[in-house]
Amino acid sequence: MTNLTGSRQRFLSFLLVISLIVVSVNGAPALGQRRSSQQAAANNRPRLVLLIAVDQFRYDYLERFGDLFGPNGLRRLMNDGASWVNANYDHMPTYTAPGHATLMSGAYPAETGIVANEWPDRETGKKVTSVSDSTTRLLAGGPNEEGSSPRRMMASTLGDELRLATNDRAKVVGISLKDRSAILPAGRHANAAYWFSARSGNFVSSDYYFAHLPKWVEDFNASHPANEYFGKLWERLLPSAEYEKRAGPDSPPWENIGNVRGDTNAFPHKITGGASAAGPDFYSALEYSPFSNDLLVSFTKQAIVNEQLGQDEFTDLLAISFSADDYVGHRYGPYSQEVMDVTLRVDQQIAALLDFVDSRVGLRNTIVILSADHGVAPIPEHATAIGLSGGRVNSTQAVAKVKAALTARYNPSGKTPDPTADYILKYDDAGRMRDGMINANLYFNLAALNRDGVNLEEIQRVSAAALMTVPGIARCFTRDQLLRGAVSSTDAIERRVLHGFYPQRSGDVIVVTDAFKYFIESEITATHGSPYTYDTHVPQIIMGGRLKGGKYFQAAAPTDIAPTVAAVLGIQPPSNSVGRVLIEAIQ
Ligand SMILES: [Zn+2]
Repeated sequence: MTNLTGSRQRFLSFLLVISLIVVSVNGAPALGQRRSSQQAAANNRPRLVLLIAVDQFRYDYLERFGDLFGPNGLRRLMNDGASWVNANYDHMPTYTAPGHATLMSGAYPAETGIVANEWPDRETGKKVTSVSDSTTRLLAGGPNEEGSSPRRMMASTLGDELRLATNDRAKVVGISLKDRSAILPAGRHANAAYWFSARSGNFVSSDYYFAHLPKWVEDFNASHPANEYFGKLWERLLPSAEYEKRAGPDSPPWENIGNVRGDTNAFPHKITGGASAAGPDFYSALEYSPFSNDLLVSFTKQAIVNEQLGQDEFTDLLAISFSADDYVGHRYGPYSQEVMDVTLRVDQQIAALLDFVDSRVGLRNTIVILSADHGVAPIPEHATAIGLSGGRVNSTQAVAKVKAALTARYNPSGKTPDPTADYILKYDDAGRMRDGMINANLYFNLAALNRDGVNLEEIQRVSAAALMTVPGIARCFTRDQLLRGAVSSTDAIERRVLHGFYPQRSGDVIVVTDAFKYFIESEITATHGSPYTYDTHVPQIIMGGRLKGGKYFQAAAPTDIAPTVAAVLGIQPPSNSVGRVLIEAIQ
């Protein structure tokens, strides 16, 4: 019986192969193309996994602007892909590095160790970034620019697992304007990550990956393509009435960028950075314009060709992250005409990328993933203006309250010098010493607390109680509480804080502000980082593989992406992935 079934299957497979060969010959494609498409069909394996992350892209942008998208970009993904309309990050530090680390690892910051974009390193007392690595050398960067690597990433990624599963024959490449957004989704065992240096105007990498940049990258940089955008005017794609209707007037009072580097709040924006020629000021200004995404697409096309991505039966992975959307969102806020325009433009840029992948690899051989690393809150002053109680929480005032409480508790007799003066960690931020209140995490100087025999659990409680008296602070969590897991899994905020806590890198008291309120200074117009939906709710679309297109209303999270794609590819899920396989879309 078994044998009979087996031989029948073999016969059916034989028929299938024969019919495929007939179809190929009739279609008369080029020889190499025919051979590789036969292989792909025989293996039924996607040749490429393409992650498209759009930095700070909220889910609702798909709905607010969807009718204005062209057919080949975001609308193609929305129509043909499986789209989860209620996907939320289930962790609280909703920043760029944690989000990008989660996207391809399926793990929370508590597992990846990527708790923020930057934090004070407990061992050295210096601020580090999620990817800074003084043991590496930057390739093609500016003077004294430090190298970067994925060495702080504590979990494997989908790309790492693809490489393991194929004895390294799969290729894995990450590309973005930002180092963290290129490096973290690709993973520790990636072939390469490339990002943009605003000091040199080049696409750069580090000797973590190779001793020298590949020749095609050097050639790309040699023509200085970034310089072509110097002085370019950023105008609206559509008539201004369309923007008035959907985003309100240009340059409302809460948009307050002042006269940043020779620019204003209003269209058109002239991209010079206040400089008379291309240089670091201009390159920074370029990042704050949609043109930097065009530059990214040009570079990515070169990467697809020269790294030969998706050209054989070993599934490759390309992770690209569009950064301009985040820069523009921070400067003008989510309800601005500028964000509307950068969204319409990223739709075109994604269309160009998908068309290119279709011509080189074939979209039917590709799994395309669209998501974002986090969303963004309305500008606090905008929220306030419409009655949503926005606000900026003053971090200096918060630290002062903690200091006063520590003096009252641990120096009641008013001894001088006050022994509590160094209880809050001071960290070195590029030569400037700062109080350890960063990313809504309060850090203690553990050496000073040990010296004075201070009970750690108690000082956490005393500080948390002081912080709770600061206007705009909703809740505080102590290190001991999180280490004990003493939070409710049914309370989304408590759960998200726990998922964002990595003991070696997180602070000693973690603060959650009220909705629409932020620890931000006035020079940043809008920001993100909270456990609230405007920061957690992101697009989650998977097109291709065995996924059935359509809208899915089940609760989902970006941690589900990596285990789902791993299951479709039949490979080991990333080491720390906690998400579920999105079975409702698997056919
Ligand atoms: Zn971001």
